[in-house]
Amino acid sequence: MSLSGKTALVTGGSRGIGKAIVQTLARAGAKVAFVYHSNTAAADALINELKAEGHEVVGYQADAASKPDADRIVEEICEKWGGIYVLVNNAGIIKDGLLATMTAENWSAVINTNLNGVFNYCQAVTRPMMSARSGRIINISSVAANFGNPGQSNYAASKGGIEGFTRCLANEVGRRGITVNAIAPGFISTDMTEAIRNAAEDTIKKQIPLRRLGNPEDIAAAVLYLASDGASYVTGNVLTVDGGLTLGAGM
Ligand code: NAD
Repeated sequence: MSLSGKTALVTGGSRGIGKAIVQTLARAGAKVAFVYHSNTAAADALINELKAEGHEVVGYQADAASKPDADRIVEEICEKWGGIYVLVNNAGIIKDGLLATMTAENWSAVINTNLNGVFNYCQAVTRPMMSARSGRIINISSVAANFGNPGQSNYAASKGGIEGFTRCLANEVGRRGITVNAIAPGFISTDMTEAIRNAAEDTIKKQIPLRRLGNPEDIAAAVLYLASDGASYVTGNVLTVDGGLTLGAGM
């Protein structure tokens, strides 16, 4: 699945799932820009790794929750590369806690990063994508959007919001040649899930028919598919990539 000659922007690209997405899209031939929050050393290491392989990659330090940053970064990339073909909204955080004691700050932080970040970058790219009459928008949701996990009301609200948003935007921009889809990962081995993996990895595996946690590369492969020519007739979908977790309790 070649993305040769294409351009991509990935939020939250310096580690975890976002890093694997940046690597996969660059190795498929795309020029890749990514946004990272704070870890400049990790971002530089990723850029150097991919540049050494001959790929064109650039990093921008920014908060996904900042609309001015999103507008500025998208404008800079469009000036530099002539447009953005693929947008992957991957930046996300958790701040779990039961609603009875959840602070307003923890509610807002999760909504601002996870959901407002998607609004910020989608709105910034839709104008150049509509002018180009082509584009792929891929929003990273979560199976938690539908699970009702206690302690994740802020996270589930943000991810459920992303899925509704994805369907609306797909309807709005389809006639301009732009597809909009979401991916709902299950349990993926990243920093985000470290605490729960340490506490209950074996129990979690028993609930997954494929009997393993996902890797960031499992999600990156789904992103590559949705960005590829082969997915040109797929829009408004949520692609679940969870080893069968949402089928119900594993046997
Ligand atoms: P992670 O914590 O390893 O990485 C999250 C990335 O988002 C980091 O690069 C971080 O710097 C970036 N980020 C966080 N806040 C940001 C902000 N305000 N501005 C810019 N960047 C910011 O987590 P991950 O597991 O790689 O998660 C990536 C995405 O996948 C998230 O949206 C997460 O909700 C989703 N997801 C993860 C899992 C899982 O099991 N790991 C499951 C379902 C969904």
